[in-house]
Amino acid sequence: MAGRLAGKVALISGGARGQGEAEARLFSKEGAQVVLGDILIEAGQKVAADIAAQGGQATFVKLDVTQEADWQQAVATAVRTYGKLDILVNNAGIFRTEGVEATSRELWDQVVAVNQTGVWLGMKYAVPALRKAGGGSIINISSGAGIIGSGFAAAYHGTKGAVRLLSKTAAIEYAKEGIRINSVHPGVVDTEMIRGTLNQEGMHAIIGAHPLGRMGTVEDIAYGVLYLASDEASFVTGAELVIDGGYTAQ
Ligand code: NAD
Repeated sequence: MAGRLAGKVALISGGARGQGEAEARLFSKEGAQVVLGDILIEAGQKVAADIAAQGGQATFVKLDVTQEADWQQAVATAVRTYGKLDILVNNAGIFRTEGVEATSRELWDQVVAVNQTGVWLGMKYAVPALRKAGGGSIINISSGAGIIGSGFAAAYHGTKGAVRLLSKTAAIEYAKEGIRINSVHPGVVDTEMIRGTLNQEGMHAIIGAHPLGRMGTVEDIAYGVLYLASDEASFVTGAELVIDGGYTAQ
């Protein structure tokens, strides 16, 4: 199959909806074989079936990114089904708005487990497969919230900042093996994550905070992730790709 990812095998966490779903669909259009993992089993299976119905190759695996055994299973599924693994997108994430004092220990641990530990585990278990494939690309989805603060969402900011630097140090660790690792920093993107959190007024305020005057779309982010996943980015590692309509430029 032709395309910017022809011959590549990709694993995408949080692929059942939102940005992960868009990345799975775009990667497939660009020639990749895709394994998508999520805790939303029905939705994930439907995305994989849709991709297959359109002539692509996609497999869903149940993946809770906080669970080591799930990661091992997901990587093994990619290798067993498609013969190798070239690309990992650590996309799964959760958003909580609480500030420092309003954050309970339980909430803190949950956000860290998914957004931060989940990214580390993904890299830990994907790297051996990427190494076997002769190199590869890991894209860790951070956020504008990993670059600047906001005065709320303490655990979210903390974890997204951690993803930014974890990506850079891992990029250095694995550069000699041809494994590139970059972080992506979306502005506010129109997905259920945001729709479930903001009222109409909050939406308007958020849109106004983006110099380009709108929220991002899932495709806006997916095209950036596609670039980093592809060989077009073969000299790009340890970088942070900001896709935020100018939000963090202010
Ligand atoms: P979303 O809520 O639509 O999608 C997140 C996906 O992750 C869902 O399918 C969910 O089921 C999955 N997920 C949650 N916990 C999981 C777990 N433990 N294991 C596996 N999967 C799990 O949100 P989205 O906007 O598509 O978010 C994708 C990524 O982009 C996240 O990392 C998010 O933090 C980041 N991000 C989002 C925005 C935004 O405004 N939407 C902005 C910046 C960064």
